[in-house]
Amino acid sequence: MMKKMSQQDLTRRARWLIFSRSRLVVAKGESTPPVTTFDAFPFLSAYAGDVRQLSPLEEEASVSGHPTYVVDMGSERIEESDWDAVTLRDVLMNTPADAFSMVGRAWQYVHFLRTHRFCGQCGSPMEQVDWEMAMHCHQCQHRCYPRVSPCIIVAIHDNEKLLLARGVRHRETNMYSTLAGFVESGESLEEAVHREVLEEVGVRVKNIEYFGSQPWPFPHSLMVGYIAEYAGGEIVREENEIDDAQWFSLDALPKTPPKLSIAGQLIAATVAKLQNEQ
Ligand SMILES: [Zn+2]
Repeated sequence: MMKKMSQQDLTRRARWLIFSRSRLVVAKGESTPPVTTFDAFPFLSAYAGDVRQLSPLEEEASVSGHPTYVVDMGSERIEESDWDAVTLRDVLMNTPADAFSMVGRAWQYVHFLRTHRFCGQCGSPMEQVDWEMAMHCHQCQHRCYPRVSPCIIVAIHDNEKLLLARGVRHRETNMYSTLAGFVESGESLEEAVHREVLEEVGVRVKNIEYFGSQPWPFPHSLMVGYIAEYAGGEIVREENEIDDAQWFSLDALPKTPPKLSIAGQLIAATVAKLQNEQ
């Protein structure tokens, strides 16, 4: 939830999440959100009435110690000697997980408000609801909530080896990962796992086990992770998306994603599972 502040206490020290285009404003040379007061940002003077406060999730509240304020500068760029705007991926690589989850949540709300200024049903301007995270149309009563797009991600093993794929976008970095894809309308998560695996690498899987989930704010995915066992078929890759796919032995794994992503965690958990069983 993100509320517009009525009586803004802008003199308070807060963690500031300031978005300029799709970037986050940080002190030059830094990659984590600044903790300071409003007057540290000369470029925000026109935004004093547009500061919102992000309600922390329980686990975030215990670690942050400061309120979190959010400002959306829209398409305006920062041209300041002390401040810089960095991509969310830069923030992801350099910030502790709890701070990143806050940035990710704020970004999804900002993205939602930016893309729901007008009603999709009748075209009238929409207004933010003050007691829940929603945009409401007072003409036709249509109400919209932030979009969450479920996406399955699955590690496949045959009890000895892991099936990993290099996406076409990772040809340069030569990184191999688990398979992932969006859930289609009307499909269960498990059906999405079967379909996506068959489409991308041509094999069948069985014994699908839930692993865990991770919000992924690019721009509003929810990654739902599974570990699945190989059930048959030869690797036939989907050429538009998959550059290479192979079975890898545990002692000869390729470069894989870092553990802060659910892909990295899934691979580590599957390796540990197979090592325990051997
Ligand atoms: Zn409407």
